[in-house]
Amino acid sequence: MSVTPAHHKAKALPTVKRRPAKALCSECGLCDTYYIHYVKEACAFITQHISEMEVEAHGRTRDLDRDRDLYFGVHQEMMAARKKDPIPGAQWTGIVSSIAIEMLQQGKVEGVVCVQSSQSDRFQPTPIIATTPEEILAARVNKPTLSPNLSVLEQVERSGMKRLLVIGVGCQIQALRTVEKQLGLEKLYVLGTPCVDNVSRAGLQKFLETTSRSPETVVHYEFMQDFNVHFKHEDGAIEKVPFFGLNTKELKDVFAPSCMTCFDYVNSLADLVVGYMGAPFGWQWVVVRNDTGKEMLDLVQDKLFTQPVMSSGDRTAAVQQGIAAYDNATTIPMWLAWVISFVVNKIGPKGLEYGRFSIDSHFIRNYLYVRRNYPQKLEAHVPEYAKRIVSRYKLPEV
Ligand code: FAD
Ligand code: SF4
Ligand code: SF4
Repeated sequence: MSVTPAHHKAKALPTVKRRPAKALCSECGLCDTYYIHYVKEACAFITQHISEMEVEAHGRTRDLDRDRDLYFGVHQEMMAARKKDPIPGAQWTGIVSSIAIEMLQQGKVEGVVCVQSSQSDRFQPTPIIATTPEEILAARVNKPTLSPNLSVLEQVERSGMKRLLVIGVGCQIQALRTVEKQLGLEKLYVLGTPCVDNVSRAGLQKFLETTSRSPETVVHYEFMQDFNVHFKHEDGAIEKVPFFGLNTKELKDVFAPSCMTCFDYVNSLADLVVGYMGAPFGWQWVVVRNDTGKEMLDLVQDKLFTQPVMSSGDRTAAVQQGIAAYDNATTIPMWLAWVISFVVNKIGPKGLEYGRFSIDSHFIRNYLYVRRNYPQKLEAHVPEYAKRIVSRYKLPEV
């Protein structure tokens, strides 16, 4: 791309003015580069155009009449998987890091955009372009905070790289896909993770202090398929807190406004998505969206145990009941939360049905948030697939 005076002018704006999405900015990093010039089309919170971009990335948009497309996006195949030899310290078993390492070692790409931790704070993200397996490994595990992954885009152009892998979450990938043609690459590979309920660094602190018995020793955490938050501590101990016991009143505004208005939980525009939400407990969930995604997965296939995706239970009553409980910020005693957690674990939704439970609950919460706080954005900002999902439930009047 040619860098024009207009790009430099845009980049020279003070930081607050360099966030056109204002309070809804998810700090994806685009606006720290001269690609800010494209922000009106690229920013997920200014222009929602997922379905148009799906056609560009995957050759078609989701078929809203096919349930798996409606919920999980365009895909060729899905499976549950885990590494035969898990990477110590990875978020799950390290499928993401393993694919990135193979991509580099087999010469498919010259660099990998990923995010390490800052030296002083394990939860403070530091995006990099990794060019060695060691640098990719150092980026393993989630930084559960808003991360400016795209802030390294100018470096990509300066480095002269022509083949690149980017690892990222939905809002980052929507912006990336929009400027993809301006990056001067011969080939871009996109490896995504699902993402929901992200927080600023201050928000994370509040979440940890409100929820964990030892916030300062938490190494990582995950909202698991067994309906508990699992906190892993420095000494390896796992602390579990049932979802139903979370202090909803305290936590109501802990999530970033961007994430309260986000409807791209499943990272619709990535070539390959690796998460856990559609897989049984203990397994990762892999969604191949297109041929490029398949090419990436093939590199690690022999390092994985795999099994077909499964689905059991019925989420709908639990989702409907959850709407009122969240709205009223109901917090129940911990002993009762454990009882509910035990029962739901026995008879509740599993596999893809757990994924639908989580998508339904978050889309409804976010739809109500947009309707209440940004009513003028509701029509254009909420994608058709999300409107279809939300319309299955009875929502409060206001
Ligand atoms: P690892 O090999 O440990 O690699 C993790 C990769 O994630 C690294 O390459 C790193 O660069 C990248 N990364 C870390 N933090 C960030 C960040 N803040 N932004 C962008 N990239 C980052 N999966 C679900 O199924 N449901 C969820 O609700 C869900 N929420 C998530 C929320 C966040 C903020 C993130 C980052 C991920 C979320 N995931 C979710 C994905 C899941 O937690 C795992 O990251 C995924 O299964 C990969 O595990 P792994 O062991 O293969 O990854
Ligand atoms: Fe810019 Fe990204 Fe923030 Fe949108 S989300 S305003 S593109 S930094
Ligand atoms: Fe971005 Fe959505 Fe994740 Fe928030 S929840 S960081 S907006 S992908």
